[in-house]
Amino acid sequence: MARLAQTAGLTDVQQEIVSTVRDFVDKEIIPVATGLEHRDEYPQQIVDGLKELGLFGLMIPEEYGGLGESLLTYALCVEEIARGWMSVSGIINTHFIVAYMLKQHGTQEQKDYFLPKMALGDIRGAFSMSEPALGSDVSAITSKAVKDGDEYVLTGQKMWLTNGGTSSLVAVLVRSDEGHPEGTAPHKSMTTFLVEKEPGFGEVRPGLTIPGKIDKMGYKGVDTTELIMDGLRIPADRVLGGTTGRGFYQMMDGVEVGRVNVAARGCGVAQRAFELGVQYAQQRHTFGKPIAQHQAIQFKLAEMATKVEAAHAMMVNAARKKDSGQRNDLEAGMAKYLASEYCKEVVEDAFRIHGGYGFSKEYEIERLYREAPMLLIGEGTAEIQKMIIGRRLLEEYRFQG
Ligand SMILES: Cc1cc2nc3c(=O)[nH]c(=O)nc-3n(C[C@H](O)[C@H](O)[C@H](O)COP(=O)(O)OP(=O)(O)OC[C@H]3O[C@@H](n4cnc5c(N)ncnc54)[C@H](O)[C@@H]3O)c2cc1C
Repeated sequence: MARLAQTAGLTDVQQEIVSTVRDFVDKEIIPVATGLEHRDEYPQQIVDGLKELGLFGLMIPEEYGGLGESLLTYALCVEEIARGWMSVSGIINTHFIVAYMLKQHGTQEQKDYFLPKMALGDIRGAFSMSEPALGSDVSAITSKAVKDGDEYVLTGQKMWLTNGGTSSLVAVLVRSDEGHPEGTAPHKSMTTFLVEKEPGFGEVRPGLTIPGKIDKMGYKGVDTTELIMDGLRIPADRVLGGTTGRGFYQMMDGVEVGRVNVAARGCGVAQRAFELGVQYAQQRHTFGKPIAQHQAIQFKLAEMATKVEAAHAMMVNAARKKDSGQRNDLEAGMAKYLASEYCKEVVEDAFRIHGGYGFSKEYEIERLYREAPMLLIGEGTAEIQKMIIGRRLLEEYRFQG
């Protein structure tokens, strides 16, 4: 199915990386994904394969042992992986958000210490902003860090950590009042801490508990957890960038990478849904002909393919903008919004094309149907994307009268 979602202007290296990942997805992910997902089983063998391919170092600079590739290359790999199984793209997403934040904002010591191990996949990252009472409204964070000598003591509860159990490094956003007097704007009194821990569940470090996996409707296999800090002591040199009060901006920068990733996932899942729909439509007969020969079904296929193409183009545009060193919040917000909405619609159409069989767990579309909604929520809901897009439009098109 090579005709949709082509990307012009790729280098030979980019083409080779993306086609290697596509082969890996076809051979190692698609055949096992649905079984693993139904059993909610962590795809260890697939993760080991990605490690071997060097994928955990894809965007980490070569000087730290990574491949030094662009956000675009990464996004195209994510698209391929999500086409196979969205949960696997979730495993690498938080890793790259943390690696990107370290690369952009870390001290030299932090980069030297973490990035080479992250490039090998020996340290894997998770990131944590959300709390039980908030997700969209990051400024309402209540988890706290209080300075005590050369350390900070962290207290509070975090929610929805993708890779919370399997990671060994979590970038945690908390409120830190030190140096930020009462009345400081919330986003200026937040700090990102680099919290190292043992992978696993229970008390993974004194003062830090990962209670267990949250049971989800889809996006299974990858672990999503809470994180409880109760007197967790973190040395001052594990403040990202060495200075408190910058956490909000660092996280928002990381989330822009995450939004391109979610857009790419939407593209990948939509492509797979189209592939499943177009195949089934040619096999299933009603009223004496394949259902693909009924115009109503052809129209569905036409709409699905158009959405796959449009989402891919916007995702590529957002990645290229960030790669060019420019702010891409508008493009990333639009791409994330459109790709996730279109993904849900394309999956729904492929599901309808499958008739009753779409409802059977034997058919892959059943899994996609439960996966697509997560994209509407993760890295900011549709409403939040529209708020970002709206604000940026008013900046760009300010009334001059
Ligand atoms: C599977 C999964 C994995 C996740 N992984 C992570 C992770 O790794 N790290 C992490 O930090 N978080 C993670 N999240 C959390 C995710 O980012 C939040 O769920 C998301 O930001 C929405 O926040 P919320 O759930 O608190 O919804 P709320 O913020 O409570 O929003 C509820 C509803 O109100 C709407 N709404 C909110 N504010 C406004 C407004 N101003 N105007 C209009 N409508 C509004 C929202 O769009 C939504 O429809 C994950 C979530 C899921 C489901």
